[in-house]
Amino acid sequence: MADNSYTLEQNLAEADGYLQRFRDQPLGHLINGDSVASVSGDTFTNHSPIDQSEMGSVASGDSADIDAAARSAEEAFGVWQNMGAVGRQKTLRDVARLITERARQIALIECVDTGQSMRFMSAAAVRGAANFTYFADLATTVANGQSLPTDTHINYTTRRAIGPVGVITPWNTPFMLSTWKIAPALAAGCTVVHKPAEWSPLTAHLLAEIALEAGLPPGVLNVVHGLGHTAGKSLTEHPSIKAIAFVGESATGSAIQSQGADTLKRVHFELGGKNPVIVFDDADMERALRAVTFMIYSLNGERCTSSSRVLIQEGIYDEFTSKLAERIKTIPVGHPLDPSTVIGPLVHPRHTGKVKSYVDAAVEQGATVHRGTNMADAPSDNFVAPVLFTQATNQMSIAQEEIFGPALTAIPFSDEADAVKIANDIEYGLAGYLWTNDVSRAHRVADALDAGMIWINSQNVRHLPTPFGGNKRSGIGRDGGDWSFDFYTETKNVSVALGDHPIPDLAG
Ligand code: NAD
Repeated sequence: MADNSYTLEQNLAEADGYLQRFRDQPLGHLINGDSVASVSGDTFTNHSPIDQSEMGSVASGDSADIDAAARSAEEAFGVWQNMGAVGRQKTLRDVARLITERARQIALIECVDTGQSMRFMSAAAVRGAANFTYFADLATTVANGQSLPTDTHINYTTRRAIGPVGVITPWNTPFMLSTWKIAPALAAGCTVVHKPAEWSPLTAHLLAEIALEAGLPPGVLNVVHGLGHTAGKSLTEHPSIKAIAFVGESATGSAIQSQGADTLKRVHFELGGKNPVIVFDDADMERALRAVTFMIYSLNGERCTSSSRVLIQEGIYDEFTSKLAERIKTIPVGHPLDPSTVIGPLVHPRHTGKVKSYVDAAVEQGATVHRGTNMADAPSDNFVAPVLFTQATNQMSIAQEEIFGPALTAIPFSDEADAVKIANDIEYGLAGYLWTNDVSRAHRVADALDAGMIWINSQNVRHLPTPFGGNKRSGIGRDGGDWSFDFYTETKNVSVALGDHPIPDLAG
């Protein structure tokens, strides 16, 4: 459970102690178990989202560093294979244990690096450990296949790790997302080169350090920091890297697909979303209001599965939106380490600029803008008030584009068919939420929504064995349970003749 019983002052003092090492010396890559500078010597500066102060410098990798990491992952592949599934399982359980022991440290650093609030990050660090435990438990099932017999043959399938893989992650909840991709890759028997986001590089290093301490052989998990178009691009092009698991924007996914074409990379994409939450007039209004508010204004709205478009049935539209407008006035915006904060600073001035530009767009396009309270005396412009856009139509950019901030667009609909039409009239298809007390309608609408995941009368409650992923521009592939292993393995079929089946004789 998340423990938010510490005061802001206690959190600040403890975080400051943890951050000192990053100020003292540049953060290196972690290649073959060693912390190393870039071959070029290049670094970039890591800035605090809170006040833009410098938090230290970070090695900026390019193709030379990626090459060293990929070779290291290639050499370590045999070592990791030789440990066997039981050996890998034990090590990954140890990683989970150490993450749990350091969950508070991870959460404090994550908050200061991303601007996400402690209220949510303490749970995210714990969830990172749960990801490792879950996939460690499954490690001994990865090779399992099917028996597909015929009258003449026994066919059986087996699965084997595909080899070294690249994992590229975004900045929104970096530690949890890294574990979500890396734990199944390692459990499958793959070795990994991880390229974390340049706006939040710190906790990736902690994860790799913890893994080494838990007994992961050097080279099994390597981290190369750097920018997307240098380190990230090189990783997607490296011939030793067999597959790329990517979480980030849809446009970056397209770029990665082209970059990986020459080396025929297998890709798994978790991309953007503009997820609808449909509220019918028979829904439990109080619970729907709470869920709609939570699913866009938690995690700074920087969440791929946020319900950023609320479609409300006409008869309850005015009442529902006026209650929403009241609620956002009470959502606390503040320092990410303040235990009462819900919305912390957005990650980077460039992202803040993007989010704010949609407020201007909403006004220009004729929507009404409702604002929650901003933080008094905020130390930087990255602290933004939650916003709600009403009188919006689905054609507006605030309804079609992913804002990835605490901004909700409310659109009215007339009936079930209209709701489904509006919900699907978008290039994304990650998640959909719907609130109704009509059980038949709930199933009909769930079936009609073009999205990878649907929640009915529910906020986004994850169950790790269930498939996670999106349709259309929201992704390729599914994670969770055995779906993760399909991506990180090659399947082989072995066919054994049971006796003397007919073999055509071609001799003259
Ligand atoms: P981004 O695509 O800009 O960057 C993600 C990562 O890709 C970073 O590490 C970046 O350095 C790297 N990158 C950028 N260009 C690259 C290139 N040409 N080749 C290789 N790597 C490259 O995304 P972001 O702004 O960091 O993250 C926000 C996005 O992530 C949002 O669209 C959000 O919806 C998405 N996201 C999706 C999920 C999901 O599960 N579907 C989860 C979290 C975030």
